[in-house]
Amino acid sequence: MIKENLVAIKANLPESVGLVAVSKFHPSSDLIEAYNAGQRAFGENRVQEMVKKEEELRSTCPDLEWHFIGTLQRNKVKYIVPFVHIIESVSSIKLLDEIEKQAAKIDRKIDVLLEAHVADEETKTGFDIDELIEAAHLIVETDRYPHISPCGVMGMATLTDNEDRIREDFIQIRKLFEKLKEELFKDNDKFCQISMGMSGDYKLAIQEGSTSVRIGTAIFGPRVY
Ligand SMILES: *Cc1c(COP(=O)(O)O)cnc(C)c1O
Repeated sequence: MIKENLVAIKANLPESVGLVAVSKFHPSSDLIEAYNAGQRAFGENRVQEMVKKEEELRSTCPDLEWHFIGTLQRNKVKYIVPFVHIIESVSSIKLLDEIEKQAAKIDRKIDVLLEAHVADEETKTGFDIDELIEAAHLIVETDRYPHISPCGVMGMATLTDNEDRIREDFIQIRKLFEKLKEELFKDNDKFCQISMGMSGDYKLAIQEGSTSVRIGTAIFGPRVY
């Protein structure tokens, strides 16, 4: 089923849009199945689970890319910095400082996305828009983050059936990206990603400019918590 699901979703994705298979709560055997069907980018939202799977899959799936997409506690940054492909959910300056510190220790440069909070729900994470812009200024205009490579923005839409609201959220994320690109990252070709869209809303996200969708349920089925 995983392979068929991947094929069906890819048929809906323009070639320029990346796919992160969100494998949280699913066993490593499911990741192997997706990997064998050609999938390389996987998203996890818990450090312990990602570290465990990385150990299990390191030799079988050597070019698998780990995308961290969840709330990241500062004291756990050190566990993922050695192998993570990108941290998509950077949501505070303190977290940027910790990523810088841990990356410097092992002399690695870490790709990150700045997560924007645009959704209604209080539970959703991410920078408020003003804070995010401030963080972007710090990254570009100071020498505080030599081991961090900013690659774009990430965001989630409000959890609602109201398509207009979801679309507005995605438009806000895209406009934020465009503003940052224009004002701060014009000469940085790596700053090119807008990660938005999940199983229920990825088609809307693509219409509104997503360059990378994060899809779990539609690939792996429902999660058992
Ligand atoms: C779980 C999760 C997803 C995937 O959600 P689905 O609805 O299962 O596709 C995408 N992004 C983030 C940040 C997530 O935590």
